Amino acid sequence: MPQSRTAAARPVIAIAGLGIESSTFSPARTQASAFHPSRGAEVLDRYPFLAPGAELREAADWHGALVGKSLPGGIVTAAAWAELTDELIERLAALPALDGLWYDIHGAMTVEGVDDAEAVLLERIRATVGPDVLVSTSMDLHGNVSRALVHRSDLITCYRMAPHEDHMETKERAVRNLVDLLNVRACGAPRPVKAWVPVPVLLAGEQTSTRIEPARSVYAAVDEVEATDGVIDAAIWVGYAWADEPRNRAAVVVTGTDRDAVSAGAERLAQGFWKARHDFDFVAPTGTFDGILDEALASAERPYFISDTGDNPTAGGAGDVTWGLTRLLARAEFQDDDGPTVIYASVPGPASVETAVSAGVGATVTVTAGAEVDDRHAGPLTLTGVVHAIRHGDRDAETEVVIRVGSVYAILTRLRKPYHHEHDFTDLDLDPRGADIVIVKIGYLEPELFAMSAGWKMALTPGGVDQDLVRLGHRRIRRPLFPFDREMAEPDLSARLVPASDAPLTGDDE
Ligand SMILES: [Zn+2]
Repeated sequence: MPQSRTAAARPVIAIAGLGIESSTFSPARTQASAFHPSRGAEVLDRYPFLAPGAELREAADWHGALVGKSLPGGIVTAAAWAELTDELIERLAALPALDGLWYDIHGAMTVEGVDDAEAVLLERIRATVGPDVLVSTSMDLHGNVSRALVHRSDLITCYRMAPHEDHMETKERAVRNLVDLLNVRACGAPRPVKAWVPVPVLLAGEQTSTRIEPARSVYAAVDEVEATDGVIDAAIWVGYAWADEPRNRAAVVVTGTDRDAVSAGAERLAQGFWKARHDFDFVAPTGTFDGILDEALASAERPYFISDTGDNPTAGGAGDVTWGLTRLLARAEFQDDDGPTVIYASVPGPASVETAVSAGVGATVTVTAGAEVDDRHAGPLTLTGVVHAIRHGDRDAETEVVIRVGSVYAILTRLRKPYHHEHDFTDLDLDPRGADIVIVKIGYLEPELFAMSAGWKMALTPGGVDQDLVRLGHRRIRRPLFPFDREMAEPDLSARLVPASDAPLTGDDE
């Protein structure tokens, strides 16, 4: 047996990637600055498992190229794409010869004029670093996996939990598997075998949370397949429902050393997902916005959370839809200061924030916010109230203000921001645990909010990430596809063995 690499011969690995979920049903556009790119050595700071002294840090010679992650949003502009990818490629080209590359992406990026953006970028990366480099791709399970992306990767995996409590664990697994693979490759082992199965199902994340059935059991099988002899990694992608490209759908990939084992594992996972398709349901009871407000007012559960789902910024909504807050402020129950306390998060409105900041806490202001990007459902909202709080320096919002109108505490921001943590509220002198109702532009509640909620329902509201997928008007997705074609015939869920990254990809895409 050849010896494994010595410390002096540790593999040289680069890190690169861009991540966003971009909704093609939102009028918003995403610019380069939204990706907050890390460059060079600072890329390593993103990952605790690559901290100085950590085992994986010492196992290779790491080189950050460029890694950028954006909040979900609208389509990435062609100019932003050119700027970011040109810099990423230039930085890779300047690195020493590589043995491996970790491709850290999300997998649901839509770019003006580009289909299958992450596979296109990986093709450019391969053209730069050469065919011998081993690539490990790690993704969000709401990413999409084309045959081309599998082909250009040697290892490919994704999260196994939604909400993504295992996001860092997944990245670490992708990196560890890459280091292990480089070490066995140095001893002459072949590239991994990759079995891919596209599954003709496209569902919202809110219907596929792994906290509940059937996704819990469907995903539990991933660990069992991964534990099989001859398997390195196994993954199921739900896909991203709010973009309209042929690649948007669920998929399974199993990688390993044994053709039969990876094929059998991939087919098992694909069958499990397909068979559960009719059982996927929203993670919380759903209803109309006003209907749920009625139920919340009648309920004794406090605090009662309501997800205003159609404009969820963490799924790709523009974030500035005013429809929900407009309805809320029109309700008679909240007109008086001593009415039931409602917190509403949030609506961006830069001019309204500026006015509130100039006036100061305690002042009464009249401001207009929202509907600068997405005005299809309601126009800009004008409200008069008392400035309750002002906060500067947030990474996403930059500046946040709270305006109290009657018994409603409305959060307005300079830029859009997701509200996922208790401190997002308490930092604004708000007490979500003591409130009667908390309304958040979100889909499924993130863990802290979920733990805090006594009651919870999801309002099916309009916006760029409308949960009623079939009414959105997809045109380019591959059909038949569930639930667009509910009565479709049984699909071919046999495993497709995708050629190694250094062999040609032949045959039609499917
Ligand atoms: Zn996701």
